[in-house]
Amino acid sequence: MKAHARVVVIGGGIVGCSVLYHLTKLGCTDVVLCERKELTAGSSWHAAGQIHALNGDPAVARLQGYTIALYREIQEISGQDVGLHMTGGLLVAETRDRWDFLRADCARQQMLGAATELISPAQIRDLCPIIDTARVLGAIYDPREAHLDPYGATHAYAKAARLKGAEIYRHTRVIEIVPSGKGTWRVVTEQGTIECEHVVNAAGLWAREVGHMVGVELPLVPMEHHYLITEDLPELKQMNREVPGILDLDGEIYLRQEGKGMLLGVYEKEATPWAVNGTPWEHGETELLAPQLDRLTDTLEKGFQRFPSLGNAGIRRIVNGPFTFTPDGNPLVGPVPGLRHYWAACGVMAGFSQGGGVGLTLAQWILHGEPEGDVYAMDVGRFGPYATRTYTVEKAREFYSRRFQIAYPNEYWPAGRPSKTSAAHGALKAANAVFGVSYGLEYPCYFALPGEPAAEMPTLRRSNAFQAVREECHAARRGVGILDISSFSKYEVSGPRAATALDRLLAGRLPTVGRIRLTPMLAHSGRLMGDLTTMRLSEDRFHIGGSGYLQTWHMRWFSEHLAQEGVQIRNMTDQYGGLALIGPRSRELLERIARVKVPDCILPFMSVVPMDLAFASAIVGRLSVTGELGYEIYVPTLHLSALLDAVLEASSGLGARHIGMYALNSMRLEKSFGIWSREFSRDYTPRMSGLDRFVAYDKPDFIGRDAALQDRASVPDKRLVTLTVESPEADAAGYEPIWLNGKMVGFVTSGGYGHCAGISLAMGYLQSAIPDVETGLSVSILGEQRTCQVLIQPPIDPTGARMRG
Ligand SMILES: Cc1cc2nc3c(=O)[nH]c(=O)nc-3n(C[C@H](O)[C@H](O)[C@H](O)COP(=O)(O)OP(=O)(O)OC[C@H]3O[C@@H](n4cnc5c(N)ncnc54)[C@H](O)[C@@H]3O)c2cc1C
Repeated sequence: MKAHARVVVIGGGIVGCSVLYHLTKLGCTDVVLCERKELTAGSSWHAAGQIHALNGDPAVARLQGYTIALYREIQEISGQDVGLHMTGGLLVAETRDRWDFLRADCARQQMLGAATELISPAQIRDLCPIIDTARVLGAIYDPREAHLDPYGATHAYAKAARLKGAEIYRHTRVIEIVPSGKGTWRVVTEQGTIECEHVVNAAGLWAREVGHMVGVELPLVPMEHHYLITEDLPELKQMNREVPGILDLDGEIYLRQEGKGMLLGVYEKEATPWAVNGTPWEHGETELLAPQLDRLTDTLEKGFQRFPSLGNAGIRRIVNGPFTFTPDGNPLVGPVPGLRHYWAACGVMAGFSQGGGVGLTLAQWILHGEPEGDVYAMDVGRFGPYATRTYTVEKAREFYSRRFQIAYPNEYWPAGRPSKTSAAHGALKAANAVFGVSYGLEYPCYFALPGEPAAEMPTLRRSNAFQAVREECHAARRGVGILDISSFSKYEVSGPRAATALDRLLAGRLPTVGRIRLTPMLAHSGRLMGDLTTMRLSEDRFHIGGSGYLQTWHMRWFSEHLAQEGVQIRNMTDQYGGLALIGPRSRELLERIARVKVPDCILPFMSVVPMDLAFASAIVGRLSVTGELGYEIYVPTLHLSALLDAVLEASSGLGARHIGMYALNSMRLEKSFGIWSREFSRDYTPRMSGLDRFVAYDKPDFIGRDAALQDRASVPDKRLVTLTVESPEADAAGYEPIWLNGKMVGFVTSGGYGHCAGISLAMGYLQSAIPDVETGLSVSILGEQRTCQVLIQPPIDPTGARMRG
């Protein structure tokens, strides 16, 4: 065993072996893998071996596509057969909503370059003669779906990595991980100690335990999962090809052919966590859990209705095995916040579909400093301290039991809620607020109209919130909208070296004292890393704001790139609550509660002042993401409730009302203002996104400067635009393709109804070569082609007079 290695990967399941392979593929050969028992000794050996390319999140779908394409490569390099059966796959719909969802999804997958197509019940029967399509409306067919041999696939990665120089130590359990004091880790195993630069936790079922070794609680939990394998079916015996893999979403089962029988897997409603308090080390490589068939009866009955011959077939084998789930079902990948060079590659629920992409992403991150594209959806830094053990178990159960349910874009699932509430929550609830949740915190989406239930119906079309949001938008554009913005993140950076350090971190110019600037932040590659708002409270004190759900992600980046003597960085999000006053009469409202005049000479656009408001020391910034005259007010959390009372009391006669985030979204679309994770992400550069106007290219030094200069000098292949869409009942939700004469020329990043403009709007990226005046553009909404047109200027207040007014 080596005493030193650059990287030690812990865990020889499909994920650890893929990480090992990708590290060698990218040129790092000083890598070793420690496996407690034999390779595949966790979840990997008993997987059903089904591989899917389709996923609701585009970044994860991209990585799944990569994973599938990789199997031939590792088979060739290693000489190890992976048992690949490229059968193609079907996603079957029975209900109208599901069919709409699949039609939308098919278009989205095509946007990602997949050759998916929609097929009819007759075509489904041709491909799969054992299905009863009496109630089926159609399916997505994806030729890339397949199944393979889990043992072969894991060993193929391992052999390919070994051939490139990696070493694998079997029967070598890691028992301790300790910092050496020299910036390296000492990985203590049963067979000896290895000192290394980087540790990768790919310990699957034991990832929590390997997290505890360095004091972190990773949000994942194993869940029990069953599949059955039938005896041979006469229909299949007669066929000289295999039936495709099938996800019968409304039937709540998945199937694939196994020999001349079928393998049938079930995500039952009664989801059962396993080993909640820790996975026993002695859980073995051939050990399964006792089958609990009574839990599956209802789902199986449904399945047998769709596949009648299965109901008559004998059962050859039943598998009940555990595998890990995170609160949102996506993997945990990347640098674990708070630790240097300790990496996660765990919580992977579909290791055979996702393992290749996870391995590539992590290897790029370790060796190149960042992954190639936007991988936020699986970043370990997307969760925060709210993701406790009980929260994780609740959410994982919910995710498991809803695995095949439609994920409506306007639905916030109930488990683990409420967990965190703003200090204004009670008052907002009393005003009929309908809440969403972000980073564990409840925030108002909209306020139900009198007599309406305070609940939004999940739908792919415009919802029952429409009229209420419309009234909120009009109130905010005519009088004042009052919005709880406690969910925005708030960081304080201070100290004698704060300005120098921030100037290097941010690509934008720092504001002078009392001023506010939009300050993009770039990764070293020049890709966007943040769209922050920086307020300068004094020479050496800054208040920085951003999207609330990015807190862990931002803080990880800040501590990697800002931490130094003379700079303090504090996440103040939970310590400060906030209200936004939005609209032409917001100044009057502010003056009433401040009991002083705040004319433009005192508080001009994009400036910030400290003020006493409702007995609290407040920070008041003059800005609004809606394009209206507006103010953001931040006070210590314990003062928020009194501030809201004071605001409401002072608001009579000003046309004021509560508004929620849906109104904010509608209004920002009317101004063509992009937001993070939609128009802005690590997939885009300043030039593409239009954020280049906030980049101070003449600054001598900032992170990503060289790449940003190159980006500025080049013509980007795509650019951000706003579109009007002729769509009578549904708006774009994101990632719908944009077409020109049957050719895909772009995609949507976000959409919604512009209530004051009276039109459906979308923002998205369009090929740069397409001129604004192009006619003949269309966007796929719920599978229908809807005419759309590029807007040369925002539909509301194109000159920006209102927000400056
Ligand atoms: C019944 C069932 C069916 C499934 N079907 C599919 C499917 O069809 N398609 C699909 O994509 N996925 C499927 N899965 C999920 C899939 O099995 C997992 O996503 C995958 O195996 C996770 O792999 P992993 O490498 O992350 O973890 P694991 O396979 O659990 O591997 C972790 C490894 O780390 C080792 N280890 C742990 N701690 C230490 C330590 N301290 N020192 C050294 N070594 C350590 C373990 O021994 C183990 O070998 C299924 C799972 C189950 C249970």
